[in-house]
Amino acid sequence: MVYTGFRSALRTGRTSRYLCRQNMEKVNRHNMSKSLLSICLILICLSGPGERVWAQQVQEPANAPPEWSRPYKPFCIAGNLYYVGTCELACYLLTTPQGHILINTGLASSVEQIKANVATLGFKLSDISILLTTQAHYDHTGAMAALKEMTGARFMADEKDAGVLEDGGRSDYAFSRQYSSFRPIGVDRLLKNKDTINLGGASVTMLHHPGHTKGSCSFLFTVKDEHRSYTVLIANMPSIVTEKKFSELKTYPEIAKDYAYTLDAMKAISFDIWLASHACQFDLQVKHKPGDNYNPAAFIDRKGYDAALKALRNEFDEKLEKE
Ligand SMILES: [Zn+2]
Repeated sequence: MVYTGFRSALRTGRTSRYLCRQNMEKVNRHNMSKSLLSICLILICLSGPGERVWAQQVQEPANAPPEWSRPYKPFCIAGNLYYVGTCELACYLLTTPQGHILINTGLASSVEQIKANVATLGFKLSDISILLTTQAHYDHTGAMAALKEMTGARFMADEKDAGVLEDGGRSDYAFSRQYSSFRPIGVDRLLKNKDTINLGGASVTMLHHPGHTKGSCSFLFTVKDEHRSYTVLIANMPSIVTEKKFSELKTYPEIAKDYAYTLDAMKAISFDIWLASHACQFDLQVKHKPGDNYNPAAFIDRKGYDAALKALRNEFDEKLEKE
């Protein structure tokens, strides 16, 4: 396996982020093929008025890196936006007086950490009324079905990821497999590019950023504190997950066009603060140490965002050359 991003990381001197990202993708690919060692959960789901019963088998890929489930002290990023994820799998809580929005959930086992983190911050899990995800992969949706049950929240997703979310990843173009890699989740509202999600004065715009999955997306919104307002981008960085040639992906013929679109669209976004689906993608550990004081300015980093996108553009261009 050749990691071209690693070489460009050495050239740019931004080694830690790219090593981290490459490691993440390597593990992702590796894990998807290690189904024999997987945790197997047999979930008995009731469908209809208690008569029809069906069994759904879920195997979350095993051997996840320890930082994916290592706890991280929750904190306020800016205004009413909080970090409630693990050390590496970023989850965000946007609070409002009329309920909260949770973006991403980490692995199936992350549910207890999210629950504890929300409580530590002084909020109620039961006040979460909307659930969102940046992509239909098990390291971001693993606990979504459980949290939906626990909170009664509505789950909203990019329409292009709906099928994969509803079959627990079985129809994923890169990782299609016999078993679901996360519990299937019914989508209550299908989102299209630039749709807004409004709740208690918050307005979140979904930006369709396909490639990593067919319905990967980012979220753009504004938060305020007593000093100023911040435009926040929760970016789903368009990293490449398939080892196959794009032309070999019969179930996703438009993949190259989608990546090209996403790379251009993401370059054109204006924001103050950027965050991402994985903590290492935006250098969370460098920008915020557990226990640090409130400091939104730590996340103002256009340069880091542009460099991360440039590295992904290079990776994409190198892959295209090998087609
Ligand atoms: Zn992913």
